[in-house]
Amino acid sequence: MQTIKPDTICVQGGYVPQNGEPRQLPIIQSTTFKYDSNEAMGKLFNLEAEGYFYSRLQNPTCDNVAKKICQLEGGSAAMLTASGQSANFFAVFNLASAGDHVIASSTIYGGTFNLFAVTMKKMGIEFTFISPDCAKEELEKAFRSNTKAVFGETIANPALTVLDIEKFAWAAHSHGVPLIVDNTFATPVNCRPFLWGADIVTHSTTKYMDGHGATVGGCIVDSGHFDWLAHREKFPGLCTPDESYHGLIYAEKFGKEGAFITKATVQLMRDLGATPSPQNAYILNLGLESLHVRMARHCENALCIAKFLENHPQVGWVNYPGLENSPYYQLAKKYLPKGTSGVISFGVKGGRKAAESFMQKLHLCTIETHVADSRTCCLHPASTTHRQMNEEELLAAGISGDLVRLSCGLEDKEDLIADLKQALESL
Ligand SMILES: *Cc1c(COP(=O)(O)O)cnc(C)c1O
Repeated sequence: MQTIKPDTICVQGGYVPQNGEPRQLPIIQSTTFKYDSNEAMGKLFNLEAEGYFYSRLQNPTCDNVAKKICQLEGGSAAMLTASGQSANFFAVFNLASAGDHVIASSTIYGGTFNLFAVTMKKMGIEFTFISPDCAKEELEKAFRSNTKAVFGETIANPALTVLDIEKFAWAAHSHGVPLIVDNTFATPVNCRPFLWGADIVTHSTTKYMDGHGATVGGCIVDSGHFDWLAHREKFPGLCTPDESYHGLIYAEKFGKEGAFITKATVQLMRDLGATPSPQNAYILNLGLESLHVRMARHCENALCIAKFLENHPQVGWVNYPGLENSPYYQLAKKYLPKGTSGVISFGVKGGRKAAESFMQKLHLCTIETHVADSRTCCLHPASTTHRQMNEEELLAAGISGDLVRLSCGLEDKEDLIADLKQALESL
């Protein structure tokens, strides 16, 4: 097949109907699949033949959507999960178990931070959190003999730091472990981390990929580049026999291209069951069909609004990696030349009280715990998502009382600016 461009993959990637089949991706709303003989089904259970047997593991609708995301990222294999949380959990747990260690960027999404620092810690996996802006030497020092992976976000939610993917990939590879990148905010339309050395990409498809605030979901994509067998002793889960599969060795049977996703599917999805629904996968696919068109508009609106805010006397500061005075502007130009995302954070002069009354005055920009929606929304973290923290803890988390997180939607930017302007001027 000819190589098609990302915009075309968004529209036509994944599902390819054969003669007389539905043009739109069919929703295979079935838990199970019928076979003519026990022998045929036995081959599936032994992973000797490809096919479907139970939708907890795999479903054709979900697989077609995973395939589209895989093509967009330029990967070798992919799977959908029920949420972004389960995608990140599976991606890390597929490599690390009790007694192992993982290095993660300190500015990652709060939900992922809790997953790592609290829940996975209880499972016996230790994490070292390191600033994404750290020097190479500092990053090198974080590695231990039991380190199994490095993890970061292309654009961190909500800190909006931009990851130097090449720096992190270099450090991971020089210690014989893969780099996992959560590419949720950038999406493959704006950045393809595999081109810069990342080995595994994860997504919360709940955000821009769905794009309409309609479905929670996640995805894991493997680049197929990491050579597990070259680091056999580090990755026993992939390179030694799996007793729950009659002694199968994933890295030998499925190679660099297929081992990681096969293991995560037949072992982790089988046992933990964070299964996406075919209905949700169908809705996600509708979102993906316009991802390239929407991302451009989200970024255009956000850049314009960031510039407006930067010049407004009621605004103390603006954090948007697309702004020239952002400390991440150079990294953003390198890794995200088409734009970063629609998310901005900024401070309202007058602190916490001013930020809260500013938000009360907004009409088009609504208050929500969400980002990456077609509708512009905003959040005051200090009084909502982070309200259990005291002033000191808020400061350490980089959440000041004046901080407003704004997710720019797809509306006319002049309307959005007028709304922000009237709310700022009412203060
Ligand atoms: C939202 C988000 C997640 C968690 O995804 P869910 O779909 O809400 O489970 C993980 N990583 C990032 C960067 C996110 O923004």
